Amino acid sequence: MANQGELNLNEGNKSYASRFTDGKLALPPSQKYAVLTCMDARIDPSAALGIPLGAAHVIRNAGGSARDAFRSLIISQQLLGTTELLLIKHTDCGMLTFDNAAARDIVRKNKGDTAAKEVENLDFLPFPNIEQAVLDDVRWLQDRAVEQGVRVTGWIYHVETGEAKRVI
Ligand SMILES: [Zn+2]
Repeated sequence: MANQGELNLNEGNKSYASRFTDGKLALPPSQKYAVLTCMDARIDPSAALGIPLGAAHVIRNAGGSARDAFRSLIISQQLLGTTELLLIKHTDCGMLTFDNAAARDIVRKNKGDTAAKEVENLDFLPFPNIEQAVLDDVRWLQDRAVEQGVRVTGWIYHVETGEAKRVI
């Protein structure tokens, strides 16, 4: 299974490329918005959020963290013209299941002391409550001068039902 990703790519990309007809899209997102969400494998942003190809940036990381995504958000907004951000966390997120100390312990157990040293100052940005984390991230963005003029809304996507519900 170590190369299942490559196997899927080889098979899936052939069929995708054979049907592909959208090779002339512009670089900046045509609908001028960005989505920030979690890397969770159960979320299919294009399908779940109705995003046409070329319309929006989709930025993903563990937890859909605004701090982690800040660099990409600035590029999206300042260099590529997006003016709206949908910040979407989700139910049953892995980030609810550990804290920094636990993550560092796992690295030490799996990879040893040298590896543990490499992550000793890394903030994994876990959170104990989804709704509060959405509010915190939206406010963290709204507090920054560089985000002024960007319309930011916060959402929770429900992995059990496929529904996205607005929080703020
Ligand atoms: Zn998640």
